[in-house]
Amino acid sequence: MKVTKVCCQGCGADLQIDETIRFVTCNYCNARLEIVHDATVTHTRQLDQIARTTHQLANNLQVIELQNDLERLDREWSQDRDRFLTRDKAGNLSEPSAIGSIIVGTLVIVFGLVVIGAIMASGAPAIFLLIGLGFIGLAVFGINRGTTQAGNYRIRMEDYESRRHGLISRIERERESRG
Ligand SMILES: [Zn+2]
Repeated sequence: MKVTKVCCQGCGADLQIDETIRFVTCNYCNARLEIVHDATVTHTRQLDQIARTTHQLANNLQVIELQNDLERLDREWSQDRDRFLTRDKAGNLSEPSAIGSIIVGTLVIVFGLVVIGAIMASGAPAIFLLIGLGFIGLAVFGINRGTTQAGNYRIRMEDYESRRHGLISRIERERESRG
């Protein structure tokens, strides 16, 4: 057995070690050490620290990956969102609104009923009633389409927000567990 003196990386104590042994535990500070034989010197490397550094690197990578996921999610949502938004003449974007399409649709239905009433009062041929019915049909179609769009939009938005929230809390958890 060949004894060598090395310095503990944990506490700096001088340790007498058997040169053939690769791993030791320091009796002073309990650090787990790897004995490293270089060409000219033999020294120690603290294993806990290696483990900690590796953990931290993996943790950093995990955070970067999650941040990439978050950016991709935001990008996808902004593309998805554009398909639902309508632009008015002034260039303002607005979200699909169920109430908005119900209000407009109801006004058109009322207008259709007024047209039907006027045609009936005038004694015009019954075929002209189709004009009023046409307005009502369009209004029902518009309300149905508007509320469906608004419903789909809300589902997509809630899905996006819950996924975003999940990613952010995972990033925060990773950051907290760092070190
Ligand atoms: Zn030590």
